Amino acid sequence: MSHDLHAETRIACAGISTDTAHNSVSPPLHLSANYYWNDPCEKPQYDYARSGNPTRSQLEEALASLEGAAKGVITASGMAAVDLVFNLVKPGDLVLAPHDCYGGTHRLLTARAKCGHFNVAWVDQTDPVAFKAAFVRGPKLVLIETPSNPLLRITDIRAVVALAKDCGAIIVADNTFLSPALQRPLELGCDIVVHSTTKFINGHSDVVGGAVLAREAKLGEELAWWANCTGVTGAPFDSFMTLRGLRTLFPRIERQQMTAREIVEGLVQDGRVAKIFFPGLASHPGHEIAKAQQMGFGSMFSVEFAAGVDVLELLRRLKIFTIAESLGGFESLVCVPAVMTHASMTPEARAIAGISDRLVRFSIGLEHGEDLARDLFQALEHASVSGRGLRGGSCFEENEDAHLAAPGGSQEFSLKSAPPLA
Ligand SMILES: *Cc1c(COP(=O)(O)O)cnc(C)c1O
Repeated sequence: MSHDLHAETRIACAGISTDTAHNSVSPPLHLSANYYWNDPCEKPQYDYARSGNPTRSQLEEALASLEGAAKGVITASGMAAVDLVFNLVKPGDLVLAPHDCYGGTHRLLTARAKCGHFNVAWVDQTDPVAFKAAFVRGPKLVLIETPSNPLLRITDIRAVVALAKDCGAIIVADNTFLSPALQRPLELGCDIVVHSTTKFINGHSDVVGGAVLAREAKLGEELAWWANCTGVTGAPFDSFMTLRGLRTLFPRIERQQMTAREIVEGLVQDGRVAKIFFPGLASHPGHEIAKAQQMGFGSMFSVEFAAGVDVLELLRRLKIFTIAESLGGFESLVCVPAVMTHASMTPEARAIAGISDRLVRFSIGLEHGEDLARDLFQALEHASVSGRGLRGGSCFEENEDAHLAAPGGSQEFSLKSAPPLA
């Protein structure tokens, strides 16, 4: 499809009116496992669904077009996507990975390194000195994940690309937290983007899936070869559902991040909040980098509540937010990383990573912002030892001068007035 068209148009048009059998407008779902040959000497475009399937190809092309990739591979899950890229490294090769990467990725790399498939060095990628020092060891592959989970720490993608160029390392970016609507790492010089399409891309919390997108066709073909060889390719039905979800990516993201900003704005002024982790805040350490490499600040944020707030009670009192892991869906979710997503880390490791027991992670969905804010503040009222009496406590100083700054890029927000506080 023409790259002169805007991304929104390319998604809306993906696969539309391509059915030559019955002229269906919306592309059909091809479930067949195998495809007939007209002649034993003429291999058809598709012969067996592990290697190729028309429905999966449509999703693959749509995602490749959005990320600016030459070739994509659709996988059965985000973890299958992450694992697929590690077929590119050999025993003895070094992989640099973020010390605060997605838990499943941490488990996978630790297990593979233990089996001797490759070596792993964990680095704080937001620390330029430590990161630069790690490059001296000559990594073969560098995995980045920005913003990180759950503290929304930002890695400078352009800086990593500059460092990796010198040693010829393959740079892989996990773009799950923002989606190509808000960040396009291949355009910033990365070689490969991976996604858990389970999150924003499908956006409807009803499919587990993944994708790997390569900037160069040669690397993409190599990954597609491995995907067919190991059988990690995605199911046709999942691809059909994911393409359907993808069509509304831009309006969903736009609305979700607008609501997230409104809620953050309400929380910034609240004395029961100790710290807010949201790259849209000018006080966030990664704010300037986020502005330079993202097209928006997204709809994920985490809040460390003050000592007087019982965060477990806060979650129990919420009526609209659902207590669940995962993110990026149409429904607003809330979790306490210390007892949920990051429970497998030791308390000491969590403390070093900056994940307090009073940290709450929010994924903002498509509900009305006023209803979400009201829900949050009524729950906060119930969960606070002395209600609003905590206002002005010493913990408040940390966000006193925080304010919402305009994001970079061409996409401007129309920030509505903050919702009424319950
Ligand atoms: C969820 C997630 C994954 C894993 O994806 P699955 O679809 O659950 O296998 C990988 N990376 C990030 C950043 C994620 O959020």
